[in-house]
Amino acid sequence: MRILVVEDDTRIAGQVIETLRGAGYVVEAAGAGEEAQFMGETEDYDAVILDLGLPGVDGLTILRRWRHDGRRMPVLVLTARDTWRDKVTGLRAGADDYLAKPFELEEMLARVEALIRRSSGHANPVMSCGHVELDPATNRVTLSGRPVALTALEYRTLSYLMHHVGRIISKTELTDHIYGQDFDRDSNVIEVLINRLRRKLGRGLIETRRGQGYRLAGPPAQNAAR
Ligand code: CA
Repeated sequence: MRILVVEDDTRIAGQVIETLRGAGYVVEAAGAGEEAQFMGETEDYDAVILDLGLPGVDGLTILRRWRHDGRRMPVLVLTARDTWRDKVTGLRAGADDYLAKPFELEEMLARVEALIRRSSGHANPVMSCGHVELDPATNRVTLSGRPVALTALEYRTLSYLMHHVGRIISKTELTDHIYGQDFDRDSNVIEVLINRLRRKLGRGLIETRRGQGYRLAGPPAQNAAR
């Protein structure tokens, strides 16, 4: 999962970035309005944390422009303002959630998890597919109830696929969301990661769609209901 953090206060930005990276997210950062707006327009993020008071274009204006352009990523607005009017304005500009400074980093993290989960259509905080379960709050993965040890990259790959169960995910999309911008796209590292996940979690979990990408099949109950 890849997150954009937009915050000009370097101390707060540093804490937020460190917390998110510690929780396994790929994080990119912007400290000024124009830069942030451009990144949100051109790159694909699973969530954005957006401070409202920024040098240059302010956060609310950026948010309105993104929504006007059809950008749908979930946005958590951060602001020093804590009046009900500012909250309403933020939500009406297209924010999905709101956090007033000062805030607890743990609460920020829980809100980001919830936003990503809901935007990908999951209500249950623990995701499951077949006999595999993944808990974003603890980064734990189990197979038939037994813990499975994954590397950080294996975990990110599985997490992205599980958030998008049933959808075909191209290698490019997967690369974007588990590495961020500056990764060599010619590498076959994604195939290696998928094969390692299959060895640890069972051959049948991840389908390869030739020329298209990878797909996690939905749970049997969903298939039966179609
Ligand atoms: Ca600020």
